[in-house]
Amino acid sequence: MSARNQLLSLISHGVFNRFAIPLFVLFALIAPLTHPRVVQTSSHSSLPANRQSRTAQFDLLIIHGKVIDGSGRKPRTADIGIRGDRIVFIGDARKKNATAARTIDARGLIVAPGFIDPHTHTLGDLSDPDRKSNQAYLLQGVTTVITGNDGGSVLNVAETLRKWDEQGVGTNAILLAGHGTIRGRVLGPTDAQPTDAQLEEMKRLVARAMDEGAFGLSTGLYYAPGSYAKTEEVIELAKVAAAKGGVYDTHMRDESSYSIGLLGSIKETIRIGREARIPAHISHIKALGPEVWGQSRQAIDLIRKARAKGIDVTACQYPYDASGTNLQASLVPRWAEVGGRLEFLARANSPEVSPRLLAEMEANLKKRGGAETLLVTDARDRKLIGKRLNEIAKEMDKPPVAAALELIKQGNVGVASFNMSEQDIARFMKQKFIMTCSDGSTGHPRKFGTFPRKLREYVYSEKLISLLFAIHNGSALTAETFRIPDRGLIREGYFADVVIFDERTVADRATYEQPELFAVGMKYVIVNGKVAVDDGVYTGVLAGRALRKQVRP
Ligand SMILES: [Zn+2]
Repeated sequence: MSARNQLLSLISHGVFNRFAIPLFVLFALIAPLTHPRVVQTSSHSSLPANRQSRTAQFDLLIIHGKVIDGSGRKPRTADIGIRGDRIVFIGDARKKNATAARTIDARGLIVAPGFIDPHTHTLGDLSDPDRKSNQAYLLQGVTTVITGNDGGSVLNVAETLRKWDEQGVGTNAILLAGHGTIRGRVLGPTDAQPTDAQLEEMKRLVARAMDEGAFGLSTGLYYAPGSYAKTEEVIELAKVAAAKGGVYDTHMRDESSYSIGLLGSIKETIRIGREARIPAHISHIKALGPEVWGQSRQAIDLIRKARAKGIDVTACQYPYDASGTNLQASLVPRWAEVGGRLEFLARANSPEVSPRLLAEMEANLKKRGGAETLLVTDARDRKLIGKRLNEIAKEMDKPPVAAALELIKQGNVGVASFNMSEQDIARFMKQKFIMTCSDGSTGHPRKFGTFPRKLREYVYSEKLISLLFAIHNGSALTAETFRIPDRGLIREGYFADVVIFDERTVADRATYEQPELFAVGMKYVIVNGKVAVDDGVYTGVLAGRALRKQVRP
C-alpha cells in the first residue's frame, strides 16, 4: 500500500464526528496528496481506524437503509453492522447503542446483497495489472464474478487463483474448468473423438481443476473445439465435476437453427444434467434469429418439465437484444475451422472449398437476420467500428459474406449481433429460474451496464419484474445455483458484500456507440467489508478474493 493509499484508508474509516479538530488538521496535512473528491465526501473521519476499532462495535455501520436481503422477502428498514469481512448485525443500531469506525447513512437508498455475475469474460481483465480492479463490474454493484465460461478457461486453476490473490482483484472471482481448453490440450483443434486414454486424461484434468478450486465445468458446444464433442463425452466429464460438488455451465450447441436447434440444445443440456447428476446451467439463454423467435415458450416448457422431475436446470440472461460475438463464430461453419487457424485460411483461400464456405456463411447470415443486424464493435481497423456489415460490404463493393470473409481473414472482428426479439427476452426474464448475467465482452455495452440496466429498464420503466425479483435473481439465486457459500444474502454471518443504490438514479450509460461508460447510481459497493465504491466513485481498494471450491473429500 502506498503512503497515499494508507492515508486514504485511514480517512475512509470514518468515526462518529466527535473529534472535529483532529479531523481538520488531518485533512489539512494530507489534502495535497489526495483526490479532492475524497476530501469532500469523507466528512466523518477522526481517529485512525486501528485506534478506534478497539472501542467500536463495528468497522462499518449502514443505517436507515431500506434493506432487500436477496431472499425474496419484503424490504424492511434496518441497520447493518459489519466487522472485518462479515455482516455481524442486522437490526436497530440505536437500541444497541452501536458505535462504528465508519457510518454510512443510507436513508432513502436500497441496501442489497452485492450482485453475482455467473458469466463474464473477466479472466484476462483480472490478471491484467491495469484492469484487475474490475471497475466495470464494481460500478454495476457486482461483487463476485464467475469466469472461464463458454468452455474457455485456464488449464492451471491453482496458478491463476494464486495470482489473483497475490496481485489483488477488485471483485471476488470464481473460475470454472473449461471443456474446450481441456479438449484442446488433449486432442488439439481436431474434430476427432477421444480414445479411451484421451478421455481418461480429460477426466483427470477436470478433476485436477476441481481440486484446485474450480466451481464446475463449463462448455462452449457452439464453438470450436467444444462443438466437436459428442454429448456422451460431455456427460463423462460432467460426472467428474458432479462427484466433487461442481456445477455444469454451458453455452449450448445451438441457440438458433444452425445444427440441433435451440430446443434440441435445451434437451441436450437437460440430458447432461440428468445423466451426470449435476446442476445444469444454461448461459445467456436466448432465441437467436428470426427462425426461432417465439421458441422461448417451448424452451421454458422443457426446462419446467425437467425441473418438475427433479433435474436442477437453470439459466441466465443479459438484458439486451444483441448478442456479442465475433464475425467468424457467428458466420463460419465449424467444419471450416477444423485444424485451427492456418487450415481455416487454406480453406477460405481455396477455389474448391470457398464457394461452399461462402454458401454456408450466407445461410448463417440469414439465420441471424441479415447483414444489417451485425454491428462491428471491435477490429484492428478502427474505421470499421460502429459500422454494420451491409455498409461495409457496400464500401468494399462485395456481397456481405464475401466482405465478412475478407475481414475474418485479416483477424478477429467483434460484432454485436441484433438477433433477439423483445417478447422472448421478456418471457425468459420473468422465469424464477433465470438469473442475471452480463456475458460482458469488449465492445458490447452489457459489460458495463447489465445489472443497472435490468433495474432501470425492466423494473422501473417497463415494470416487467419487481425489484425484489431482480435482486434475488442477481444475488441469492446465483449463489445457490453455483453453490457459493455465505454470499448472496444480507444475513448475519455472511460475507459483507453489499451494494447501496439510489432507485431514482441507478442506470446504465453504456451504449453500442460508447460501450465503456460506467453505470451510475451505485452509491456504495462493499466487498468483503471494504468500501470499494464510495459515493459513486471507485476508492482504489482491491478487496476481492479468489474464491476456491471446497471439494468434499
Ligand atoms: Zn457464451
